[in-house]
Amino acid sequence: MSNTADLLVVGAGPGGMATALEASRNDASVILFEVDEVIGGNASRSTGYLAFQDFDMQSDEDLTDSPEIFFDDMIAEIERQKEKYGIIFDEDLAKIFAKESSETYSWLCELGFEFNRFLPRPLQHSVNRMVDVKDTTMFTTLFETALEESGVRILTSTRVERLIMENSQIIGIATSKGEFYANKGVVLAAGGYQANKALRQRYQPESMASSPYLGTEHDIGDGHLMGQEVGGDLINMTMIPPLIMVGSALVEESIAVNRDGERFHDEAGPYDYRVNELKKQPDQQAWYIFDNQTFKRKSQLIHEMPEEPHKAESLNGLAEEVGIDPIHLKKTVNTWNEFLTTDVLNDPLFGRVIFPNPRIGITESPFFASKMVIGINFPAGGFRVNTDLQVLNVYGEPISHLFAVGDCVGGLGPVIGMGGMRITPALTLGRVVGRNIATDQVSQKQTLENADRIPANKMKIPVVDA
Ligand SMILES: Cc1cc2nc3c(=O)[nH]c(=O)nc-3n(C[C@H](O)[C@H](O)[C@H](O)COP(=O)(O)OP(=O)(O)OC[C@H]3O[C@@H](n4cnc5c(N)ncnc54)[C@H](O)[C@@H]3O)c2cc1C
Repeated sequence: MSNTADLLVVGAGPGGMATALEASRNDASVILFEVDEVIGGNASRSTGYLAFQDFDMQSDEDLTDSPEIFFDDMIAEIERQKEKYGIIFDEDLAKIFAKESSETYSWLCELGFEFNRFLPRPLQHSVNRMVDVKDTTMFTTLFETALEESGVRILTSTRVERLIMENSQIIGIATSKGEFYANKGVVLAAGGYQANKALRQRYQPESMASSPYLGTEHDIGDGHLMGQEVGGDLINMTMIPPLIMVGSALVEESIAVNRDGERFHDEAGPYDYRVNELKKQPDQQAWYIFDNQTFKRKSQLIHEMPEEPHKAESLNGLAEEVGIDPIHLKKTVNTWNEFLTTDVLNDPLFGRVIFPNPRIGITESPFFASKMVIGINFPAGGFRVNTDLQVLNVYGEPISHLFAVGDCVGGLGPVIGMGGMRITPALTLGRVVGRNIATDQVSQKQTLENADRIPANKMKIPVVDA
């Protein structure tokens, strides 16, 4: 087998898979490298919330959305986050993503993806546009079929270790299975650096750097380090927002209570709000309460949580085991169950708008309590790129033949908190870069013009008279 292809893609998460598939469908030869034994990356381990605009689920409900409305929602989110983090937000990428997300939905449907329902996040998505994938293992199975059919060569259990650079151009990669060479480019799609505590320590306070994380152990920042070695400019690296370690699909069917047995927030609200509300509770402790029906349906998500759940045959027993006020717990669960028997769409206590589907209460014994634990899932930081997804150096100049997608890109990361804003951008920009590289649409001229608009580190080297 040849060790040369038009395109070498590092990592088979949604970003890498979309890049490889679209490049191959546009007649490029592609090799996709994956350190894990299977493809899918964190998308296969995720909740599968995806955000699009202008797609048929929206038109079925007569919802009006557009790239402009989507973009404005992103800007509003950035304004909120600017209070807490130093942010470089790439508005050009955001506009491309918003526009192309519509096509990504149709593209996924053609691959065989199916979606359940809208998950409203009214504080962040002003229009209903976030939906959930029926089964996240589709990110592995459907892509496996499509990539195979289109002729992408997939090398699993293969770690990419270094980029090979010659005359200031990336010409290939060194892997655990030898060297490979690229005619048109190398795409970094190796995900984030969440699983690498040493790397997180460079950007996070000590106490946060060792907080738990739920996804693939392989996201140790290899892409970030390889690109950094050849001069790539990393941005938004300190934005590693804390969140409660819980699958959103479990939250849909649970309520959270504090020691007093009281609910205290919208369990499905924005990630940072949930963390803040937990911190206000007595001893900063609270638990997700759910029943046996949920335990059976969501067992994988429950076992992935940082701590095993408490279990008891009755709510009284559960309260005693965990140390929650039993009378209030029972009252809170009853109130919740009664509310779910109505068709009211807005929880009167905290404005929660996401409920179990169908609206089944917490009724079947045994009952469970899973501790709310603060950790991380999504770091925002990655490479500064231009609109061709070429990695830029600190002077805003493209590194020849080096591209990045997904969590290796930094400029879109700061909208993470909106929900559904990681997998769709990875797929969407992956499609775009795969197609552009394969069809030689990457324009050096456009690249250099774009570089001029980016102020970071653009400095004149002083000339010193001898
Ligand atoms: C628990 C959890 C829930 C989530 N839920 C959602 C959600 O509902 N919606 C959403 O939008 N986002 C969600 N995310 C985030 C989302 O899954 C990621 O942002 C997204 O998958 C990133 O795509 P990617 O292709 O850039 O990287 P990844 O999906 O991380 O894939 C990177 C791949 O590269 C491989 N790799 C790493 N290093 C190397 C190397 N050196 N050589 C070869 N291969 C390598 C990895 O093994 C991995 O397969 C969730 C994440 C987690 C952890």
